[in-house]
Amino acid sequence: MSRESLVSMAFQAPQGTKDLLGDAVTRWASVERTVRRLAGLYGYQELRTPLIEDASLFLRSVGETTDIVQKEMFRFEDRGGHDIALRPEGTASVVRAYLEHNLHKTEGFAKLLYLGPMFRAERPQAGRFRQFHQYGVEAIGSESPWVDVEVITLCLHILRECGLMGAVMWLSSMGCRDDQQRSAQLLRERLMKDKPKLCKECQIRFEKNVFRVLDCKNPTCHEIAWRSKASPFVLCEACAAHFDEVRRGLREAGVSFDDTKVFARGLDYYTRTVFEVRATGLGAQDAVAAGGRYDHLVEELGGPPMGAFGFAAGIERVLMAAEKQQGAGDAVPKRRGLYLAIAQPPLVGEGFRFVQQLRARGVSAVMDYDGKSLKAQLREADKANCQLVAILGEAEVKQRVMTLKDLAQGTQRAIPLDAFVEEVSRVMG
Ligand code: ATP
Ligand code: MG
Repeated sequence: MSRESLVSMAFQAPQGTKDLLGDAVTRWASVERTVRRLAGLYGYQELRTPLIEDASLFLRSVGETTDIVQKEMFRFEDRGGHDIALRPEGTASVVRAYLEHNLHKTEGFAKLLYLGPMFRAERPQAGRFRQFHQYGVEAIGSESPWVDVEVITLCLHILRECGLMGAVMWLSSMGCRDDQQRSAQLLRERLMKDKPKLCKECQIRFEKNVFRVLDCKNPTCHEIAWRSKASPFVLCEACAAHFDEVRRGLREAGVSFDDTKVFARGLDYYTRTVFEVRATGLGAQDAVAAGGRYDHLVEELGGPPMGAFGFAAGIERVLMAAEKQQGAGDAVPKRRGLYLAIAQPPLVGEGFRFVQQLRARGVSAVMDYDGKSLKAQLREADKANCQLVAILGEAEVKQRVMTLKDLAQGTQRAIPLDAFVEEVSRVMG
């Protein structure tokens, strides 16, 4: 590429990624606050793991034949020749960290929360990104059905408080590993006569992990796989009892669910209870959160045998669904903070001292440093959605007063300079 074309080239965020600015950041931060607050109420502690991991961690946990590992993982060799992946999901990293820090010895049962970016090299489309963001929890070290009930309840509680009202929860049990072998056989028999009509990938899935046919996005496969309304999962006595307990617990907690959908989760590690939350009004990408039990993963990653349950939700989809359902109308942000306007540029130092005193008291205060006209400053204050505007001019300094306008209430008054910081702090209290 010539130097000229390089110079004139406008850079853009890579395909499938996006910048967040302005109100989007406010909405985003509000979801994160809600997640941390509610997860805290339920006793989950946040942990933060690296964005990169040894690729083999995901091969071992998510599964070598899954779409995530085969098609979607950003995988590269680092300078030392290590096989590295950008994390495509959170559960494997959390379990890795749980074991690496010996929480299985020191804590036993641990309730963990994570938030952050995940990466999948998917075809970008509405609601599907290459860098997307999840929050999720993992309760590791218990087989109790009440853990399933708690995690599902927390998942729905967070969605509700994030403003997502219309959502349905699909609930199923995939059974234990023995059940899954029997169920897989049953599903193969059921699909056998239509096998030639399945897509190329489902032909392979049919042999390797037939449950993934249920998850295929191809309409023909979907129609064939979902034709039978009966669940392909046959449960042993223990798994059936576990699933009954979960349903009973959820009913007691007032959580409604649909356990008639024939669905499976596409990752290798799931056993017993699985669930998905689908939002109304999102179109094809309507899965906002999903999770389930994974009673063998801890052992498969080198720990002792212990049960675990978790979910992950996509922040982009939660926000999209909440916006669709609430309409854009009620998103008018409240006016906040103070704008200190100066009538003459030499007063910038004087103004800055006031602004700093307010900031020291925890009051948000901004001002202009570029000698803009008073009119331009007032426009800026309005645009920044400030609640108060203070005007400092030579006349004011002489009379030792400051003019204070309240843009929210439409009032204006003069305040003695000595009382200014005190008064503004009181109003903004
Ligand atoms: P889908 O069926 O839409 O591909 P998935 O089953 O691959 O979803 P999970 O691996 O269960 O998704 O991830 C949990 C949640 O993360 C999803 O319910 C969704 O909200 C979100 N998510 C997954 N992949 C993406 C993506 N590429 N872009 C945005 N959000 C995503
Ligand atoms: Mg997917």
